[in-house]
Amino acid sequence: MIIPFSPPYINKAVIHEVNSALESGWITTGPKVKLLEELVCKYTLASNTLCVNSATSGLILALKWFGVKPGDEVIIPAYTYAATALAVIHAGATPVMVDVEDDFNISVAQIEKAITNKTKAIIPVDIAGWPCDYDAIYDLITKKKTLFNPTHQNQTKLGRILIIADSAHSIGATYKNKFLGSVTDITVFSFHAVKNVTTAEGGAVCINLPEPFSNQEEYNYLRCFSLNGQTKDAFTKSKAGSWRYDIIYPGLKINMPDILAAIGVAQMPEYFEKTLDSRKEIYKYYQTFFSDKAWAILPPYKSEERLSSCHLYALRIKDISEATRDTIINKISKNGVAVNVHFQPLPLLTLFKDMGYNIDYFPKAYNNYKCEISLPIYPQLTKEQLKYIVETVEGAVESTL
Ligand SMILES: *Cc1c(COP(=O)(O)O)cnc(C)c1O
Repeated sequence: MIIPFSPPYINKAVIHEVNSALESGWITTGPKVKLLEELVCKYTLASNTLCVNSATSGLILALKWFGVKPGDEVIIPAYTYAATALAVIHAGATPVMVDVEDDFNISVAQIEKAITNKTKAIIPVDIAGWPCDYDAIYDLITKKKTLFNPTHQNQTKLGRILIIADSAHSIGATYKNKFLGSVTDITVFSFHAVKNVTTAEGGAVCINLPEPFSNQEEYNYLRCFSLNGQTKDAFTKSKAGSWRYDIIYPGLKINMPDILAAIGVAQMPEYFEKTLDSRKEIYKYYQTFFSDKAWAILPPYKSEERLSSCHLYALRIKDISEATRDTIINKISKNGVAVNVHFQPLPLLTLFKDMGYNIDYFPKAYNNYKCEISLPIYPQLTKEQLKYIVETVEGAVESTL
């Protein structure tokens, strides 16, 4: 049996929506993007949502909006995808990496040690779809408020460190019964091809800033900034008599086209009404199977406060070395099941190593990584495929240990 790791979920509804964009006479940013933004707000209860061409762009946009610049520090987990750190670098600031906890997410105790008077933002990452402890993070930045040193009007207005959730994995996850998207100042979702909801490439920036900010005004600013800082989008300009525009900011060009938004428009209702539940069923199937294996460490799924969006099934094997994990992966792969590792901690990657980040300072990140294997999880998986996956993994582990 051949089982791919994460094929996109493309059904008739998706094809219908994309065709409708193609046939409409308008293919770049326009009505489909507007619709997708409304759907994200509807399902997550975010105050406002701006769609962009990737989560990476969305993170850069959020940092630039807050006036983050060279000399500033942004705290991120060492255990994440590189985009979290690259966004900080592209904003010109310094990524300050901190270690994580057993649940893979950023350690609040380590954040506390890392906050300085240069800290402008924190980007917690909901690894695998498991929400970070946001109340603890907010309590901490409130406690550290006097250290905050604003150097931009939005920083003065907020009066504290900004929380930008990297929720690339966690659309549909809940924290204290609230969907992510409505929990933090800014939440960035990814609609990349392998994510729970996709537009092939794309991202969404959800805005829930406290008073005295107007989320609608900040949305208007961010939208303009995502379109070269131009006062009119191409859709508006294309109407008769509407040609004149102005450029008012040194913006980015990171808007989402309607063709891609159409995929997401078809996926959102299906995801929140059906395929998110299919992911949860698969996750629970894995939890049940591995729960009586002495060698398995199960990933978090649910607590009183949190419920995962089941983006990844991050299985860990107790007390194994990186080399043993790799041997197990080879055996699984030989049997046709594509698995993955999420993530290589950033200090293991050349760029960050060369910048001086050292894995020795992130022992938990390394320990999570060295024994981790991500199993396939997507709604198209059948009962037979799931049975084959767990038996293949069990066989590979038990013949290796
Ligand atoms: C996928 C991913 C991103 C980047 O998403 P893009 O839409 O591809 O830019 C950022 N952070 C994490 C944790 C991711 O997994």
